[in-house]
Amino acid sequence: MIMRTHTVQVGKLTIGGGNPVSVQTMCNTDTLDIEASVAQCERVAREGAQLVRLTTQGAPQVKALAIIKQKLRSRGVDIPLVADVHFSAATAIQAAHVADKVRINPGNFSKDLSQVRDLLTQLFQVCREHGTALRIGVNHGSLPAHILESYGNSPEGMCQAAMEYLAICWEQDFPHVVVSLKSSNTRIMVQANRMLAARMKEMQMNYPIHLGVTESGNGREGRLKSAAGIITLLREEIGDTFRVSLTEAPEEEIRFGKMFLPVTGDHLQVTGWDQLIVSACYKWAPGLLDGTIDWKTLPLPFVEAPFATKEELKDFCMDLLQATRCVFAKPEYISCPGCGRTKFNLEETVRAIKQATSHLKGCTIAVMGCIVNGPGEMADAQYGYVGEGKGKVTLYKGKTPVMRGIPQEEAVARLLELIESQQK
Ligand code: SF4
Repeated sequence: MIMRTHTVQVGKLTIGGGNPVSVQTMCNTDTLDIEASVAQCERVAREGAQLVRLTTQGAPQVKALAIIKQKLRSRGVDIPLVADVHFSAATAIQAAHVADKVRINPGNFSKDLSQVRDLLTQLFQVCREHGTALRIGVNHGSLPAHILESYGNSPEGMCQAAMEYLAICWEQDFPHVVVSLKSSNTRIMVQANRMLAARMKEMQMNYPIHLGVTESGNGREGRLKSAAGIITLLREEIGDTFRVSLTEAPEEEIRFGKMFLPVTGDHLQVTGWDQLIVSACYKWAPGLLDGTIDWKTLPLPFVEAPFATKEELKDFCMDLLQATRCVFAKPEYISCPGCGRTKFNLEETVRAIKQATSHLKGCTIAVMGCIVNGPGEMADAQYGYVGEGKGKVTLYKGKTPVMRGIPQEEAVARLLELIESQQK
C-alpha cells in the first residue's frame, strides 16, 4: 500500500484507515424542497450510497438541511449528510452545526491565504464542538491566482493548493479532513492524486482521499471517464471514498459506482455494458492513461463481450481511448451532474446538445447547470452552455461570455451557430 490514511468519522461512516472504500453521491434536488430532498436521500441510501451531499448555498439551505436530517433520522434513514458549500465561510460555519461533514474549497473563501487560515480556524472550532468532518475539495479550473502564477493550471498546481490548506489543518492539529483533487480530464486527475499521495507521504500526513472525475458527462462517455480515473487510482491503493459524477440521477451514480468494488476487480462477470466498462477500465485504463500501452498497436476491438457485435465493440474501444485521452474521434463533452443550483433539465439539455453537435469532432463543449460555479469549472472547454436561471442561458467561448440572456428554447441552436461561425 502506498500510504495508510488515518480514519475520519462522518456520522456512522468511517472513511480511511484501511476501511472498505465507500461510495457516495450528491442530490440534484433544490435543498429548499425538503420533501424531494428527503425522498432522494432515501432512494440513494436504498441503492447503497454511504454518504450523500446536498447543495448548501446559504442560511435558508442550512435550515432546510437540519429539517431534512431530522426527517430522515425519524424515518430510520441514518445516511450521513454532507453540506456542499462553495463561497461563504459563514455558511460553512453554520452548516458545521448541522451536517455530518462540510465540503469546502478554501480558495473560494478568500484570495488571501492568511485570511483563509483565520476562517478555517473558526470552522475547525465549530467542527470540533459538533463532531463534524470536512472535505477540502480543490478543482482543476478554479485554482487560486497565486497558484496559477507559479504552477499554471496543472496537476502540480492542484496538489500545491491542497497542500497549503492541509498544512493549516496540520498546524492546528485538526485531523477530521478528507481531501479531493478533481478534474474532468482523466490524466490530470490521476496525476494530481498520485502527486498528492506522494507529497502527503513525504510530509508524513495521512488524510483520506476522496476521488472523482468531475463533470464527466453522461451515458457511456461519462461512465468511462469516471471509471478510468477512479479505478486507475484505486488499483494503486489511492482513494478511500469516491463519487462517480454523472449528468444523470444520483441513483445511477451509485448503481454504477458499486460495480468498482471490491477494488481487486476480481468480481466482474461481463454481462452488460456497464460491467464491460468497469472490467475494461481495470484492465486497460492505467496503461492507456500513462502511455505504457501503445494504443496504436492495439487491434480493434481489443475487448470481448458475448452480447455485443464486433462493430459495437470497436465503438466502445474508441470511447475508451477517448476517455483516456489517447484519441479525440468525437466532440469532447464536459457536463456537470447538476445540483440544487440547476434550474433547468440538464439531462435533456445534454442529450439535445450532443445530438446537435455530434459532427464537431475535436471540439470541447461544456454544459453547466449554474452561472455561479459553472464558468470556473469548465476547465479547458472551447465552448460553454451555462444556465443563468429563470429559463436563460449564457454561451461562452473559452472563459469569455459571448451571448447572455438567451432563452433556453433557442440556446442549443445558438450554440451550434456560435461554434460553426468560429470554425469557419
Ligand atoms: S456547476 Fe453544476 S454541479 Fe456545480 S454548482 Fe453549478 S449546477 Fe451544481
